[in-house]
Amino acid sequence: MIIVVSPEATPQDIDRIVARVHESGRQTHLSTGSERTIIGVIGPDIPELQDMFESVPHVESVHRVTKPYKLVSREFRPNDTVIDVGHGVSVGGNEIAVMAGPCSIEDEEHIIATAFAVKAADANILRGGAFKPRSSPYAFRGLGEEGLTYLATAGKLTGMPVITELMSVRHLDAVAEKADIIQIGARNMQNFILLDEVGKLRKPVMVKRAPSGQIEEWLLAAEYILAQGNPNVILCERGIRTFETAYRNTFDINAIPLAKSLSHLPVVADPSHGTGKWKLVAPIAAAAVAAGADGLMIEVHPNPDHALSDGAQSLTYASFEQMMRMVTGIAAAVERTLPGVGAPAAAR
Ligand code: PEP
Ligand code: MN
Repeated sequence: MIIVVSPEATPQDIDRIVARVHESGRQTHLSTGSERTIIGVIGPDIPELQDMFESVPHVESVHRVTKPYKLVSREFRPNDTVIDVGHGVSVGGNEIAVMAGPCSIEDEEHIIATAFAVKAADANILRGGAFKPRSSPYAFRGLGEEGLTYLATAGKLTGMPVITELMSVRHLDAVAEKADIIQIGARNMQNFILLDEVGKLRKPVMVKRAPSGQIEEWLLAAEYILAQGNPNVILCERGIRTFETAYRNTFDINAIPLAKSLSHLPVVADPSHGTGKWKLVAPIAAAAVAAGADGLMIEVHPNPDHALSDGAQSLTYASFEQMMRMVTGIAAAVERTLPGVGAPAAAR
């Protein structure tokens, strides 16, 4: 249930409404906008409560949220959420965030060189996997904590915030210490204990859609994190499994405008995993930006032929730069900007 507070209410009036909600045995979640304060009531919606809250002074209106997810819904928060991920970068505003880097961190020199290359092409967030979910137990599974250290060094040297995957609660402290954004991988979208744990932090979390995750399940996964008190959640569409075998996954372009209409959270597109083929990455990145994506996640490798994971979908430095130029034009058509565009040359 959502309580819309009258515009003239003072902070004390709001406290009294919140106290009344707590008396009813429900929790609250406050959302303070420039014109309106909205109080989210967490707990089962029942009509009697709606009538009761409507009679509390300074309550303008009370709405029942029809969707199973509440805090992530547009009904709950009509304005887009903009998430500050550190180092002066945010996700969800007019500027489209560009997260780029290798699938896996392979060694220190590799992640540092890739970081400088993607930054030179105007990426503003560095990606790199240290704990890798691999289909085969014999494949390269990442450098683990050593990789996190290299990633943090590359982030510091280039001044970029870093994103990396957390696969297990066991690694939570290590990942939270080194990462600016914690990635919940597609395979862990419904690892509810992991979602609860990252919900207890304030650090931004990006939740990738599972290969067979329905939109509602994906939004409910994000709801787990917000329900624990962490409002800094980013959604990421990375392709779903369909009957088609001509490419690795089917990038679900529909998911972008739909998730953005159902939720106020930023939506990032990952055309690398969404296609599995480097030649498809730029056109699908462009399509995602045209469809309203707030960010891109792109795998880039200095030498994709020799990548320890996901080489077939990784862009070279040159093809990444080319993609950025193409996407900049598409972004302008939908009145968005890409990092670096418009910034004074000295700041780049
Ligand atoms: C990745 O980002 O490298 C990754 C493993 O992604 P996903 O969880 O979408 O497969
Ligand atoms: Mn990958």
